[in-house]
Amino acid sequence: MQRGGMILFCVGMLLAGCAVPSTQPRKSAPVSSTAPTYQPAVTLGTPSVLTELEPAPQTPAKPAPAKKATPKPDKIVRVLLLEEGKSAYVKHSGRVNIYTQDGSKKYKISAAGTVSIKTHRNNQVQAGTLVAAQPIIIEPVGGTILEWDKNKYTGKFVVLPGKTFMLLEYVPLEQYLYGVLPYEMHHTWALEALKAQAVAARTYTLKSIEKKVEEPFDLYNDVRSQVYKGGGQVYDNVKQAVDQTRGEVLSYKGELFFTYYHGNCGGATDHVQIWNKKAPNIKPLSGATCKFDSHSKSYNFKQDLSNAAVEKFARSQGLKGALKSVKVAKKTGTGRAVTLTIKTSNGSKTVLCSSFRAGTGLRSCKITKLSTGANKVHFEGHGYGHGIGMCQDGAHGMAKQNYKYKEILKHYYPGSTLSVVK
Ligand SMILES: [Zn+2]
Repeated sequence: MQRGGMILFCVGMLLAGCAVPSTQPRKSAPVSSTAPTYQPAVTLGTPSVLTELEPAPQTPAKPAPAKKATPKPDKIVRVLLLEEGKSAYVKHSGRVNIYTQDGSKKYKISAAGTVSIKTHRNNQVQAGTLVAAQPIIIEPVGGTILEWDKNKYTGKFVVLPGKTFMLLEYVPLEQYLYGVLPYEMHHTWALEALKAQAVAARTYTLKSIEKKVEEPFDLYNDVRSQVYKGGGQVYDNVKQAVDQTRGEVLSYKGELFFTYYHGNCGGATDHVQIWNKKAPNIKPLSGATCKFDSHSKSYNFKQDLSNAAVEKFARSQGLKGALKSVKVAKKTGTGRAVTLTIKTSNGSKTVLCSSFRAGTGLRSCKITKLSTGANKVHFEGHGYGHGIGMCQDGAHGMAKQNYKYKEILKHYYPGSTLSVVK
């Protein structure tokens, strides 16, 4: 994906380990101009007030009588499950209500079954027996779980009509996080690391929502945002991590920020602007040392890229010809390459290493050895992922050394404040 001339890309948290902002230009929504304008069925509010979670003054007060807190409903997260759908099958474990957005057509199915969704003539969509040119909602009732593409969901599905249809899930934030954590960090990892991940993922989500009020969805369900496979299957550790940090987010100077994270930084993280020049220059994303990630097998890497793969990337940057060499042109103080110079029989070009990594699948730009051979380019170095924000292997390493999640977050997002969303 291209953003301001810079490719932002991420190859999966467990694979390449990173979250990227889903702020790149979207494909236009598949709702045709003749179709009714889509009105979000759920209105999302503006950013919440943050209440700092700093320790309260130590006054030996008598315990206040326990108040019965009425939990506020979670924010709803709108996740894109399927972008250009032609047909889809949604299983339901029990009762569902199916209705059009304006409520003019509705029916219910009381037993388990499958709802088929398909495109219909004149940019309409059919879900079950309903046909409409407006959004159709499939709402699980009484604990019904929806299943699509082998994943289980607890939120309601919203189908947006068009030449092809979009399938979205509207899911409460904390349930959404149940379906993110196990795919962004291993669910068997130390609880404090999972809690740090829960806060980072929650903040990232709410920051994404801030940006997307006018759009039909907030987040992709893949590495373009955060990997999400439904909140219908919940791991114990994940539930604890999410529940014990309920509502907690990171902010800087009173504002949420994109809490990027990645697999392994290779000894130190870097400033966000080496990866995305348009990102705000703020202290929490300015880089941190990391002495906690060398236990991971991702700490060192050796990787060969074929000359053909590098030439393909070079062509995408306007440089044709047979590959002659690849060299690091500029690197940061931590040893992460900022730019690489590619030489071919037709000339040479200096490119962002982050773009190169995105285009070729290079594990990390922290390169210690680079040699160009007859058929392949050999890389050695450290880390996995973009190296911005929280290093997940480092978070795990810290948790194993008994650091608490607040300390982990403070370390990787220096200067940030832990707050609770009100
Ligand atoms: Zn690290």
